[in-house]
Amino acid sequence: MLVTVSAFREPYEAHLFRGRLEAEGIFAVVSHEMHVANKWVLSNALGGVKVQVSTDEIELAREVERACCRGEYREMLRQELGDLDDPVCPYCGGTEYRKRRPFLRAVVAILLSRLAYSVFPPTGWILRCERCFKEYRAPHRPVSVAKLVLAGTAMVAVVIGLLTLQVWFNKVFGCYGQFPCL
Ligand SMILES: [Zn+2]
Repeated sequence: MLVTVSAFREPYEAHLFRGRLEAEGIFAVVSHEMHVANKWVLSNALGGVKVQVSTDEIELAREVERACCRGEYREMLRQELGDLDDPVCPYCGGTEYRKRRPFLRAVVAILLSRLAYSVFPPTGWILRCERCFKEYRAPHRPVSVAKLVLAGTAMVAVVIGLLTLQVWFNKVFGCYGQFPCL
């Protein structure tokens, strides 16, 4: 029988943990992945994306989870890859922090989401050092011009595609008045 070791908000987080368990020789599966992927805003209400193992291996899996929480695998990563580019407090050099969204960006994201009936997550983080309790912004990672051009081109292509689809839809099925008839 399968039992849940841990639950995550996002499918990719669950797969990272499943990969860790399998690297330790523990067979694990991810469940409710598609359910959450289809309606991720309900992830918490659905109990999240679950990583499950057989009852025989639950204790081993819990030990791997505890090792993850203690940061043991993080240390292995650091030894293998060097600097992990963790945010460092500019005031005291501490690496432990809590994070929150900038207030103004959160308000803009909520307004945009309500207006467009879609989800516009806010960008950027403000980090609060756990050692000296001062706040600082997460390191800015600049986006290259090539990526901006690519994203802009993709957005224009999507808009043109949707308009073309709408023109075709109106021709074939007629105009239902929900959208402007082109
Ligand atoms: Zn600090």
